[in-house]
Amino acid sequence: MTRLFASDLHLDPARPEVTEQFLGLLQELEGRSGSLFLLGDLFEAWLGDDLPGALGETVAVALRKLANTGTALYLMQGNRDVMLGESFCEAAGALLLEDPCLLEIHGAQVLLTHGDALCTDDGAYQRLRALLRDPDVRSGLLALPERQRRALAGEARAGSRAHQSRLSYEVMDVNAEAVVRLLRESGADVLLHGHTHRPGIHQLTVDGRERTRIVLGDWHAGSSVLHWTDDGYRLLSQPR
Ligand code: MN
Repeated sequence: MTRLFASDLHLDPARPEVTEQFLGLLQELEGRSGSLFLLGDLFEAWLGDDLPGALGETVAVALRKLANTGTALYLMQGNRDVMLGESFCEAAGALLLEDPCLLEIHGAQVLLTHGDALCTDDGAYQRLRALLRDPDVRSGLLALPERQRRALAGEARAGSRAHQSRLSYEVMDVNAEAVVRLLRESGADVLLHGHTHRPGIHQLTVDGRERTRIVLGDWHAGSSVLHWTDDGYRLLSQPR
């Protein structure tokens, strides 16, 4: 069975070519009965499952179509689409995964996470992240009218851009100690995440055991997908 992993597509009505490539991938997978894991930031912005917009609806329909042909679908929230919830997943025929989430593949313990929780050098962001995972804060935000939610999302994006421009390249990457801690606590052999937009495969030793950290790339200039088959895994990118 083939398992595919992707993240950071940042689907946005302003960039229809990314959506086209993604819908093309979904179509290719029809009838192959593998599984597809989307590990966060599928959407550039998400106001709530009650306001999916035309793009959200198109994606839900395409995912549901694929699910109906036998592909198991799994979604995880990212930082951009942190408000994504059970209703969208139900419409899409997908299962909403906790972050982090442990999965066994051919005897290897694989820990899936979006990756933003590993950027512990950015204290301000981590406080915001915790806030947006508080159930009371979430229901408060989701109760706001569309106009206000749209304004807040716009402010968050502008604030995030201004904040990032003040941070160093290192601060925006994962923290090495946070990676070690997560691998130690979870007992995972492989840590698989996105978020940093720095695709790669890194080997490290934790508690005397070889571990692997796989980083998925973004879809800005083309796709980035990890293919995990019975023969092992390959991180493939396809230009547009
Ligand atoms: Mn992200």
